[in-house]
Amino acid sequence: MISVSSLMALRKSQKTIAGLKAAINRKPEFNAIYPESLHEFQDSLVFLIKTEQSKELIATGPGSPFFQELMGDTRSENGVTFKCCPLTVANSRVVRQYFPFTNPVSLASHDITIGLGDRLGLASPGHLQLLKGLNIRPVLAQQSIRELNLTGRNYQQVLADAVWAVFQEDYQAGFGADGDHLKTFDDIKMALDCGFTMITLDCSEHIHNLRDGEEADLERLYTSFGPDQRRPLETAFLGKEFNVSGMTIAFPLESLRRNAVIYQKAVDFAIKVYRELVKPAGNIDFEVSIDETLTPTEPAAHFFVAKQLVEAGVKINSLAPRFCGEFQKGIDYIGDIRQFEREYKEHELIAKHFGYKLSIHSGSDKFSVFPVIGRESKRFHLKTAGTNWLEAIRVIIEKEPDLYRQIHLFALEHLDEAKKYYHISAEPGRIPDINSLSAEGLKDLMNQNDARQLIHITYGLILQAKDEKGTYLFRDKMFACWHRNEDLYAQFLRKHIGRHLGALGLM
Ligand code: ZN
Repeated sequence: MISVSSLMALRKSQKTIAGLKAAINRKPEFNAIYPESLHEFQDSLVFLIKTEQSKELIATGPGSPFFQELMGDTRSENGVTFKCCPLTVANSRVVRQYFPFTNPVSLASHDITIGLGDRLGLASPGHLQLLKGLNIRPVLAQQSIRELNLTGRNYQQVLADAVWAVFQEDYQAGFGADGDHLKTFDDIKMALDCGFTMITLDCSEHIHNLRDGEEADLERLYTSFGPDQRRPLETAFLGKEFNVSGMTIAFPLESLRRNAVIYQKAVDFAIKVYRELVKPAGNIDFEVSIDETLTPTEPAAHFFVAKQLVEAGVKINSLAPRFCGEFQKGIDYIGDIRQFEREYKEHELIAKHFGYKLSIHSGSDKFSVFPVIGRESKRFHLKTAGTNWLEAIRVIIEKEPDLYRQIHLFALEHLDEAKKYYHISAEPGRIPDINSLSAEGLKDLMNQNDARQLIHITYGLILQAKDEKGTYLFRDKMFACWHRNEDLYAQFLRKHIGRHLGALGLM
């Protein structure tokens, strides 16, 4: 435990907090303090320290309401009273109240934003160290319901973890919080109630993917809409040609029928969600995702959806089409890059026409298409998540190879279970036998696509696995390893997400 009274004495010898930060960096007795976390509020000096098992917030200045609202142990040393507070959701709310920069905000006015989903609640410090000073804003809290279920977390905790990281790194430029891939009114309400500032509406359950034979049956399917629904669609689209920044999009009867059958229910759903939940909540970045479909989104379909939303008054901040090729989890793009470039340009023209950003989902590690995105879009949103977990696995491989070996064998045993949640092409047969790999050889595993995907999609099972007595098989050991090696994790993230930004032409 550091001496809070000596820290207070050191504070008196320095004119500014910046001076104090520099001074403690030179004194090993204070190296448990996260220097950037030193903040002052009225009479309180507030900062985070690293303890054996976790982190704590320390606050001095017992007279202030801030001090009193925090929950923790009040202690005293050489006449200095201070409180040691666990990094709980409740304490994060107190910090948010007194340090406004720790609240998530709308990022609508920022051209380039990047979603940095953090399944473990440990990745944000590394991300923030990378982004400080760059003109890119992070969405730190970004989890889908599937991810919450698989990691056993909730939105309060996800946001609190982001808040602590922002405080630790003194990141004052503003960050977002995304209720990602939400499908129901209840889930959206929950995210908004927690203070999330971005909602990604997943319309997939309202998108009618055409099954075999239905292609020939479009006329009947379309007629099932009834005249009151068809009339406005026909007035808006039928036989019309639209000029979208030089590109022509036309709606002959067949195209209208097809797009209406596939997308109209999703359009109606998005309008309803926006009017009833998102708009009343105020300054929320609304993303519409139509990417979870069986086939790529054609430009006409994109236009068909967007035009109706915009004309219904929906303020779209970003829209995620499904691009051609495959955006599988945690590996590079699979597909024809020239075709991707052609189609990406068309989607970009539509997005620009309506004034929103394209959102690129499953954006982890798509290095071969990043140059296209960076070149063609002045504004965009890119989502990553799983790659941050894989970098955490690299830490385990590097520091505790034997623990990794156990995790690896467990993941192989449970791959089929995990495939229910995620679509991947990994072939376990192509993964090298880890018994034949040295500790050095293990380090290369996370550069091999099949092994990456194996570990990528089994995260929930790995983190939740318990023995007969109910003790976690891996979770506690993994978190202990990450805590001990948090600097290494941050270093890996700076490098790896930095590679993403480099390929996008952003740094
Ligand atoms: Zn998506």
